Amino acid sequence: MFSGFIREIDSVGRIVIPMQIRKELGLIERGSKVELFSDGKQILCRKAVESCVFCKGEADLVEFEGKCICKNCLAKIKDV
Ligand SMILES: [Zn+2]
Repeated sequence: MFSGFIREIDSVGRIVIPMQIRKELGLIERGSKVELFSDGKQILCRKAVESCVFCKGEADLVEFEGKCICKNCLAKIKDV
């Protein structure tokens, strides 16, 4: 017996995320990104959110050389 949504994996490894879940997470736009993890038994799929490369914080981000840095870490770097 399965609980949750059951989806088939196609020949190139794709699955369709149910619209109900996409709406709940704001993953409606084409190009919305998800992040996948595996522990060898399970796959975790979550909405990809940009975060600071140093502290993983998600607030007050600025981009530098293609990487996100939060303003707190940026201030600490400036003090060095
Ligand atoms: Zn930071």
